[in-house]
Order: sequence, then C-alpha cells, then structure tokens
Amino acid sequence: MEQLAINGGKPVRESKLFYGHQYIDEADVEAVSKVLVSDYLTCGPKITELEQKLCEITGAKYAVAVSNGTAALHVACMAAGIGAGDEVITTPITFAASANCALYCGAKPVFADINPKTYNIDPTKVKENITDATKAVVAVDFTGQAVELDELLSICHERGILLIEDGAHSIGTKYKGKGVGSIADMTTFSFHPVKTVTGGEGGAILTNSEELYEKLLLYRAHGITRKESLMEHESDGPWYYEMLDLGYNYRITDIQAALLLSQLDKLPMFSERRKEIVKKYDEAFRQMPELFVQEEIPESDTTRHLYILRIRPEKLNIDRAGFFAAMNAENICCNVHYIPVYYMPHYEHLGYKRGLCPEAEKLYSEEMSLPLYYSLTEEDVDDVIHAVKKIVDAYRK
Ligand SMILES: *Cc1c(COP(=O)(O)O)cnc(C)c1O
Repeated sequence: MEQLAINGGKPVRESKLFYGHQYIDEADVEAVSKVLVSDYLTCGPKITELEQKLCEITGAKYAVAVSNGTAALHVACMAAGIGAGDEVITTPITFAASANCALYCGAKPVFADINPKTYNIDPTKVKENITDATKAVVAVDFTGQAVELDELLSICHERGILLIEDGAHSIGTKYKGKGVGSIADMTTFSFHPVKTVTGGEGGAILTNSEELYEKLLLYRAHGITRKESLMEHESDGPWYYEMLDLGYNYRITDIQAALLLSQLDKLPMFSERRKEIVKKYDEAFRQMPELFVQEEIPESDTTRHLYILRIRPEKLNIDRAGFFAAMNAENICCNVHYIPVYYMPHYEHLGYKRGLCPEAEKLYSEEMSLPLYYSLTEEDVDDVIHAVKKIVDAYRK
C-alpha cells in the first residue's frame, strides 16, 4: 500500500491543484480591450447583446443582466412581490444568497430538506412546508443538476406560488431537452469566476413573462423608468424619467458583458469537458463501495459546476475532515459545498436550530468538492482519482 502524504509519503503530485478555476483566452482579452476603448463602459450595447445571447442559449423570452448572482436573486424576489410576512421556501444546501434574498425583502426563509441521492430540494418536502404565507420557492440546481422542475412547477402553480430557479450552477444544463432558464417563472445565473462562465462578476435573470421582465428592469436600475406608458405624470421633455418604486443600482458593465459574450461562445466546449471529467470520476468512484456517487434524474442533461465526493463513514475509518486533510496533503485542494445555511450564526440569531433538515446535515458531514473545471488535464483528473483511491485504501474498514 502507498504511504499517504499526510503520514510522510510522497504526494500524488508536486503542485497544488485547486477545486475551481476560470478559463480566459485571447478572444476574451480582445473582447474586453475593445470595450475599454469604445464609447460605453456601462449602459452600452454589449449588455443588450448579452441579454439576447442568454435568451438564444437558454430559449427564454427575456433576460436581464445584473451585477452578480445575489443581485439577480434579490430583484427576482422583488419582482415576485415578496415582502414582510411572506415565506420563501429554499434548500439549506446552497450558498447563503439563495435564502438571504428573502431576508432582503423582509420575508422569512423556510428550509425544506434535500433528496439524499440527488442532493436537490425534495418536492415532497417543499409541499409539506407550504403555508398560506408562502409566496415563492427558490429551488437551487445544486452542482448544475436541474431540480425536478415539472413537479415543483405543478406544486407551486396549483397554489399561486412562483418558482424561482437559482441556476448559479446550471448554465448549459437542459431539462427534458429545454435549456435551464426557459422553464421556471424566473431563473437566476451567477457569473462569478468559479462558475462555468464568468464576467469577473455578473448575473442575470431569465423569464418568459413580460410582466416580470418589466419589473426586473425597474428594480435593477433604482426603480427608474423612461417608458412613458409606465409613468404616473406627463413627460416634461426628452430628459424626463420617473422613479416609480425603490430599486437598486444592480447594473452590470459593458466590460463584463463583453467578457461574458466571449465566454458564452465557449459554453459548449466548457460543457463537454465538464461532462467528460464527471464521467471519469463517476466511473472510478463507482468501483469503490466506500463512496457514494451523486445520482442524476433522467430529465436532467447536466453541465456540472461542482463534483461532490461523498464518503460512507460506516465503511471507512476516517471522517470527512480527515479525508479532506489527507487530500490536501496529496496536493489536491478540495472545498465543501455547502455548510447548511441555517448553521450560520446570523440564521441562528433569527431562531433557526440544527436538526431542521437531517438529510442536508448528513450530506454536509460526508462531502467535499473535487477539482472540476475546463482546463483540468487528463493527468490532473488521474491525480485526483489516485489520491482518493490512496486514502480509501488506507482507511477501508
Ligand atoms: C454563486 C452563487 C450565488 C451567488 O452568486 P454571486 O454572483 O456570487 O452573487 C447564489 N446561489 C448559488 C447557488 C451560488 O452558487
């Protein structure tokens, strides 16, 4: 048996391998440079182009680009009319922003447990948590796998509730052949550098509803409109605009939009490579009964943003923290997605208690995210598998 690096053995590789990394090429650099010497750094033509491209890629009717994925969730909740006294159901296995967006609007996040095999929010648990105060469900396509959209849409629409899909992980994913972004009432994307395509920062909301689209435009830009049809007073002249409601400055820049346009050209290539890597990991880890491989619903053709390695503690003499440390010593830097949102002190201060979602808590205690990104080489992927195997072999019960 090979000696583990954590016990003084030779690591599987010399250089550190990180869990995520952006891929920027010459075309990206050129696209950004062109905008820098153009007339518009913000509020210019690249933003409209980006919105059109997002519609083309996903099949959605409308897209509104914003400054980041958190802003996208916030304006989506505002457009949904969420306010004080309302409840918003979401998953605990997500980045805090998926629940914070309810808090921003004065509403209460309600956490529904996950399906222990797919790790996505369980539609049955959503149903159980619906009350008269429920105004929306924020369902997260965790790791990039689409949530059970048909089930969730029918649960929501029967009761007049809106479905907001947090697609921060899932650009490029298809559900029953349709692009994520074209199915839920609203879908939000994030373009942070760790996500599949990046603008440095950036986000977007997609919808097929003209009514929601008009509201999203308004809340993105201070609640200001220049459309006479929406105005409460008669126009004073060509300079005139009205602030109809309280909105924010959540604009994206043309610099970011240009980078995103260039990145989106590479989405099919990014998708394909991510799928190849996931397949290779899945095949290797299915050979090891000490590990659990995330299950996929057949409706989702997934572009994965994250790869979750889940250990079966009953079959190993090492826990997640130990496994994570051993991987790090092998120079494979993992991460953990996610600490259940309600473990956060801010949520504890609001009265949320541990024990709320047992499946989510169990997943958290057994998982880590392995490196997954376009520029990983075959050797990198082999190194990751090698490290996992080394550790499993050393601690098998
Ligand atoms: C990244 C992420 C967000 C927030 O996006 P930002 O662009 O970082 O604001 C929201 N939800 C999920 C699930 C994410 O992964």
